[in-house]
Amino acid sequence: QAVVHWFKTDLRLQDNRALRMAFDIAKENGLPLICLYIQSPEDLTAHIASPARVDLTLRTLQRLQQDLAELDIPLYMETVEKRKAIPGRIVELCQQWEAKHLCANIEYEVDELRRDAKLVRLCAKNNIDFSPTHDNCVVTPGALSSQQSKQYAVYTPWFRSWLAFLKENPDYLELSEEPGSNPGDARKKLSGLFDCKLPNAPENKKLSDKERKRFEELYPAGEHEALQRLEKFLEEKGRRYDKMRSVLPGKHTSILSPYFACGSISARTAVVTAKRANKNHLDRYDAGYMTWISEVAWRDFYKHVLTHWPFICMNKCFKPEHTNIEWEYDVDQFQAWCDGKTGFPIVDAAMRQLRHCAWMHNRTRMVVSSFLSKDLLLDWRRGERYFMENLIDGDFASNHGGWGFGSSTGVDPQPYFRIFNPLRQSERFDPDGEYIRHWVPELKDVEGKAIHDPYERGAGSIAEKNGYPRPIVNHAECRDRALTRYKKALQK
Ligand code: FAD
Repeated sequence: QAVVHWFKTDLRLQDNRALRMAFDIAKENGLPLICLYIQSPEDLTAHIASPARVDLTLRTLQRLQQDLAELDIPLYMETVEKRKAIPGRIVELCQQWEAKHLCANIEYEVDELRRDAKLVRLCAKNNIDFSPTHDNCVVTPGALSSQQSKQYAVYTPWFRSWLAFLKENPDYLELSEEPGSNPGDARKKLSGLFDCKLPNAPENKKLSDKERKRFEELYPAGEHEALQRLEKFLEEKGRRYDKMRSVLPGKHTSILSPYFACGSISARTAVVTAKRANKNHLDRYDAGYMTWISEVAWRDFYKHVLTHWPFICMNKCFKPEHTNIEWEYDVDQFQAWCDGKTGFPIVDAAMRQLRHCAWMHNRTRMVVSSFLSKDLLLDWRRGERYFMENLIDGDFASNHGGWGFGSSTGVDPQPYFRIFNPLRQSERFDPDGEYIRHWVPELKDVEGKAIHDPYERGAGSIAEKNGYPRPIVNHAECRDRALTRYKKALQK
């Protein structure tokens, strides 16, 4: 007999509620604990996991397997092609291991909920005790509602309520302890499970050797790295985060998003650690730490939105009236956006950062999403997809939420006529052009403010000589076109 914990996007030992629960059940009953991970290539394709994200997951699993082995806990990993087959396969494995208890954390996306609902039914039929656990958000989706007993669709009142909830329910910020040594005699009983091989990345998700090496250096895998990053960020940058978070050159944010995405660190740990740095306050003291906590809360917010309005998982925008927007279908402009060759230096720098690092700064995520959907008037879903195909931190809820913000089709209450001006954004957040010069080498010799708009500010000859394109559109004209189209769609 045994107890099983099924890992998904919660690849850590620290503060993992379902894993802790599995460990406690095993300990109480003197049974061995087995950990399980299933990779479904079909699922990775359907959910557009980027090769960088798949690679980070596999590297994280390798670390996790080592950490678990030190506790005599085996991590059994398997590839199951079809995602529909996952619940059946888990039940088969439980039967093979004579496990009567299965634990796992909940993922809130529609396909994942359906998969887990099927598993709950199958387990019930087969006498396996399985109750999925809330762990992914700091405050459980559904726990907060407005005075009209409705789900909040606007962040600011939601955040106030999130803070108040945590003050009233401090147990939500209690971190669960990591498991100790395997309580059952696992080494003897389950020795075969200890040499389980890591799954291979599916063919369509493989990185080149050069990319793998680069991402390994940029994002070393595992929870130890994530915790170290958190501590270092809070110590060195936390207090200035409110002032520096939008500055593009240098590193002023935590770059923890890849680790949240594969669950190497829990959002709870992040909030608890930041709260501690903030002299244990959740509502005052230092604006830097508080602003950072409020950013981590955005992650919760978008998951709450997704859970309440699951139709957004079905390729739909949050505001149905925006379905009527008449988009352009210019393949060349889309390609120029992807390649960072639009002739708008800030947009191009950001898109090249994405290609090189599989990550982009939040400020430029807003700039390029607005540029795609408003300046180019291309369907925001193409950009949303391109981000998922390339981001190492690709997360459905945050990405959909971010694209909803950039294209004004989401929960954000700001009206559609707020259109980012790439030039103003560039001058404001990269005043000396350092970020642009780093990512757009064609412009590295352009001096002063000309960097923001070389062809209009007297640096056209350098730009042209180095093959940097002229702007593919005129921002002022595009702004008018977008306003007309959005207005027309909303009048229908
Ligand atoms: P920090 O500034 O250090 O913030 C700490 C953490 O707070 C982040 O790691 C993240 O978990 C959370 N956070 C911060 N800002 C946001 C936000 N606006 N929305 C949700 N969570 C936030 N984030 C993703 O994790 N995955 C995505 O796929 C994703 N796609 C985005 C697409 C667009 C168009 C936009 C505008 C934003 C998107 N974001 C996404 C949110 C945000 O850009 C990233 O979380 C952030 O840039 C990650 O960098 P960091 O870890 O240094 O963040």
